[in-house]
Amino acid sequence: MFKAKAYSAASATSPLTCTVIPRRELTDLDVQIEILFCGICHSDLHFARSEWSEFMPTVYPCVPGHEIVGRIVKVGPKVTKFKVGDLAGVGCMVDADLSCPLCQAGNEQFSPTQVGTYGATDKHLNLPTYGGYSEAIVVNEHFALHIPSNLNLAGVAPLLCAGITTYSPLHHWKVGPGQKVGIVGLGGLGHMAVKFARALGAHVVVFTTSPDKKDDALRLGAHEVVLSRSTGEMAKQAGTFNFILDAVSASHDVNSYLHLLAPDGNLTLVGAPAKPFPVTSFSLLLGRKSLSGSVIGSIRETQEMLDFCGKHNITADVEVIPIQKVNEAYERLLKGDVKYRFSIDMASLKSE
Ligand code: NAP
Ligand code: ZN
Repeated sequence: MFKAKAYSAASATSPLTCTVIPRRELTDLDVQIEILFCGICHSDLHFARSEWSEFMPTVYPCVPGHEIVGRIVKVGPKVTKFKVGDLAGVGCMVDADLSCPLCQAGNEQFSPTQVGTYGATDKHLNLPTYGGYSEAIVVNEHFALHIPSNLNLAGVAPLLCAGITTYSPLHHWKVGPGQKVGIVGLGGLGHMAVKFARALGAHVVVFTTSPDKKDDALRLGAHEVVLSRSTGEMAKQAGTFNFILDAVSASHDVNSYLHLLAPDGNLTLVGAPAKPFPVTSFSLLLGRKSLSGSVIGSIRETQEMLDFCGKHNITADVEVIPIQKVNEAYERLLKGDVKYRFSIDMASLKSE
């Protein structure tokens, strides 16, 4: 076991502060990564403040962060995927048994043995897993991703969660040319979804509650922008969408978006508001519409997404901050005041 500096929260109401956490010594298939950048996902905030306590209670102290990019500084004796000096990324998973039918089918993200980057249990240490607001992380090589060399690293970090979480359902629902696709909520996930849906050739419509994001939505690749609080603008879109991706972090009326689907259209939720919400059956019955959800993506798919980003020169639009500004960043996230992802420059942890 070795010690690493990290920012952790001591309770649901405590700010994040600098502490020291244990990391395991490398086992045969582990790699050790010096973390260079870590994105701030809204899930980090939900988790640090225990907003999902009904589904996954937060154990304190907790270290959030699952949008990690860094450099390999050590490899275990049986590692073949990486060598010291390589760039590597880590997303929301750091372990799984890899032998269950779900892992074997390449869907580690659905496996009951999947270990989350934070808030799960490190089976080697029998301690909680701690996330990427830290100087170092140790993971099994299977859960580390190769990073295309042409991309800006601060903008790559958010691809490890916001990127894969939006890329995966767009692929699953076969979004492409000739389809009309809606993206609800222009935040970290939403802005990545716009970039991907546009790159896949769809007609892209952004739904936002923020009038000041209209120009950005068009610059990011949207063909149209709808102010979702305008009844008139919403009514014009009724019954026309093949697919809608909902990436909103707070309670909102999903029925008003189901109403915009064409027959056989699908609305997929990736946003994870803490409170349950009502869905009226007629929103789905009329037009055989479907409502589904999606969580991150598999390791194979994450690598495919990163390679796609390398090829199409796609990264997140980031505001780079030092770790000392993380608490302020959380408050700004709650106000929708981020364009469009905070990326923590982990070099700032050295001065602590
Ligand atoms: P974010 O950057 O804070 O963006 C959320 C966006 O939702 C905001 O920018 C805003 O967009 C919209 N919004 C916020 N409050 C709203 C309200 N009261 N009514 C309507 N719209 C509202 O968050 P994020 O990091 O993209 O994450 C979004 C959600 O996805 C979170 O709940 C997060 O936990 C979840 N998530 C899920 C997965 C998964 O695997 N399924 C992975 C990562 C994150 P506008 O200003 O454009 O309206
Ligand atoms: Zn996330």
